[in-house]
Amino acid sequence: MIILKSKEEIARIAHASKIVAEVLQVLKKNVKAGVTTKELDRLAEEQIKKRGGVPAFKRYRDFPATLCVSINDQVVHGIPSKRVIKDGDIVGLDLGVIFDGFCGDAALTVAVGDVPPATLLLLRVTEASLYAGIQEARMGARLSNISHAIQTCAEAAGFSLVTEFVGHGIGRDLHEDPQVPNFGPPGQGPRLRDGMVLAIEPMVNMGKSEVRILEDKWTAVTCDHSLSAHFEHTVSITKGGPVILSCI
Ligand code: MG
Repeated sequence: MIILKSKEEIARIAHASKIVAEVLQVLKKNVKAGVTTKELDRLAEEQIKKRGGVPAFKRYRDFPATLCVSINDQVVHGIPSKRVIKDGDIVGLDLGVIFDGFCGDAALTVAVGDVPPATLLLLRVTEASLYAGIQEARMGARLSNISHAIQTCAEAAGFSLVTEFVGHGIGRDLHEDPQVPNFGPPGQGPRLRDGMVLAIEPMVNMGKSEVRILEDKWTAVTCDHSLSAHFEHTVSITKGGPVILSCI
């Protein structure tokens, strides 16, 4: 069931999402060669608490950390550890925050030091596909128009979409209906309505789309070990068009 939010509820989701955006910017500045992913997790938790929020991922379905850190061929849900970030890595940071009973969720992928142009292209195209999807998040349109715009953008660059994980509605719960796939034909699914809030989150692979889960039961990696990037925003559907809540 899709839950429509009141203006007051959207304001609370917006506050949670703003905290996510601010903390992601702090983390982005600290993603450097020599830093461990565990250090980033600690920083994320400290920065969330400083802003009066609560980590939304920690203990969600027993996830053990505040931040998901997914490096190179890791797609999503990487668990912070002693792993040291190296020059040339691409580092996906996915963060959720609860504020006043409502959630915000966003992600970005950072290139560390010198990375080849083809890798930078993967990052830029994944981010562009997110914005292509957001552009379609308009009242009256069908949900799968978002999915189709994401797929078209990423595939035009020769990349592939992960199909195992999808975007989602968000509000009191981190994951609500509807699911927002990053692929598929346009013109399907529910009509978008004022008061819907969606977390739109393309995961794009440089190689094939297949992923598998590691023994830790969380980390998703590409089967062919190709690089993967992830960008996400929490977006509100309004009469005036889509509003990105997870920005500063
Ligand atoms: Mg999400």
